[in-house]
Amino acid sequence: MSTARSPKAPRQPQPPRQLAEIALLAREERLAGRPKLCSDCGICTGELRPFMAQSCVFVNNRAEEIERRLHGRNRRDGDELLFGIYRELRVFRMNPPVPDAQWSGAVTSLGALLLERGLVEGVITTAAAPGTRFAPLPILARTPDEVRATRGNKPCLAPTLDILTQVRQSGLRRIAYIGTGCQVHALRAIEDQLGLERLYVIGIPCTDNTTYPDLQRFLQVVSRSPETVVHHEFMQDFRIWLKHEDGSIEKVNFVDLDVSKLGGELGVFPPACLSCFDYQNGLSDLTIGYMGAPLPPTERWQWTLIRTERGAELYQLLRPYVEEREPISGGDRTRGMPVYIQMLRKPPRRAPWPIRQLVAFIQRRSGPKGLEFARSVIEMKLLRNLQFVRERHGRLERRIVPGYVYRALARYADVYRREFGRELAPPA
Ligand SMILES: Cc1cc2nc3c(=O)[nH]c(=O)nc-3n(C[C@H](O)[C@H](O)[C@H](O)COP(=O)(O)OP(=O)(O)OC[C@H]3O[C@@H](n4cnc5c(N)ncnc54)[C@H](O)[C@@H]3O)c2cc1C
Ligand code: SF4
Ligand code: SF4
Repeated sequence: MSTARSPKAPRQPQPPRQLAEIALLAREERLAGRPKLCSDCGICTGELRPFMAQSCVFVNNRAEEIERRLHGRNRRDGDELLFGIYRELRVFRMNPPVPDAQWSGAVTSLGALLLERGLVEGVITTAAAPGTRFAPLPILARTPDEVRATRGNKPCLAPTLDILTQVRQSGLRRIAYIGTGCQVHALRAIEDQLGLERLYVIGIPCTDNTTYPDLQRFLQVVSRSPETVVHHEFMQDFRIWLKHEDGSIEKVNFVDLDVSKLGGELGVFPPACLSCFDYQNGLSDLTIGYMGAPLPPTERWQWTLIRTERGAELYQLLRPYVEEREPISGGDRTRGMPVYIQMLRKPPRRAPWPIRQLVAFIQRRSGPKGLEFARSVIEMKLLRNLQFVRERHGRLERRIVPGYVYRALARYADVYRREFGRELAPPA
């Protein structure tokens, strides 16, 4: 079904769509009538649409202004440029790990604990739309069991902030919110106007998100049995691990992924996600992910960046139920970046199978590990997305690329100048 309309045709008022229906739509349909860059954060599907201009990260990236409000400062040189401002970094896992969670289940356990202890009256979290495994359906959970039932990723664009309309209508004043960086930006930008007494923001890292139909296409291309995939993740060993209904694990090297079958990156990732500069969810109270944690994935170690005082309170709540270990870090990401920048300028042809196996072996053996792996992928995405904005949405650069991006990438300024024939620094 196409929603293309003549630019001159008058816009008919549309009845609001149900969230479960939105989750299943293709990109063109769900984003029709929105700005070119839109990650469907949920502001524009509900009552909060009038807040779009002041909250949307793709209209005006206010991350550095919000950082100053939350922390009284901006990011310091070093890891904060990539990870966002944090007071503590921990590697931990739920003890025991929660079965069927995405990792060890820390995020949903925390949401459930907040309700159990009466610290909040509701948690905004993302369930699966009925009849699907991965189509996201954001909900306002009112009981710990309702939160726990939302464990596991639905790795698609989810209009989670739409649920703020329900929060307002039901008169709740103390809530927790679980979401991605673009969503947290919008939430923080209007936080003061929501009339909430207390808000806990639990962030998950996020990159290269997609719509549900595109996720299905992706699984068709990647997996030998797309219908039976129950869990998948881009692992720190440079492979996608896909778990099937029968418990078997399929592993696909990143280098073996044939993106051309998906129409290239632009064929599968929305332009918004290719213009995103907050992989680590820097404006959350705490971010819980996996990418800085050690492997193997079966051990389910996670990492958290505890950012605010409220984030420290959240981690204390979880602490009795977790075990911790020291972070690890290995390898040197800066050696690979010049090659990555070259490949970004001139994408190489797909290498023959034996060469790809050799590359995958070298990546696993000598590639960056632990925290260095996290630094490496964040840097690559910052650079790729900066270049995407410059090539496709150049006029927006000043408004949507935050200053920390240029500081984070400054060490590669010479290589960038050589490859792209222009300065990495922002236009004057
Ligand atoms: C699209 C996507 C990409 C991600 N990429 C990375 C990454 O590159 N590196 C990394 O370290 N972590 C990434 N994560 C986060 C990571 O996969 C786990 O979600 C996180 O570590 C929490 O695991 P857990 O076991 O504690 O969560 P669980 O206890 O299993 O709970 C999962 C939580 O995720 C929420 N959720 C699920 N799908 C969505 C969605 N589409 N939008 C918003 N919230 C959702 C649910 O509300 C639930 O509360 C990504 C998550 C998503 C959705
Ligand atoms: S990202 Fe959110 S605020 Fe921005 S246009 Fe899309 S729905 Fe609206
Ligand atoms: S990649 Fe960025 S823009 Fe896309 S959903 Fe994730 S946080 Fe939002």
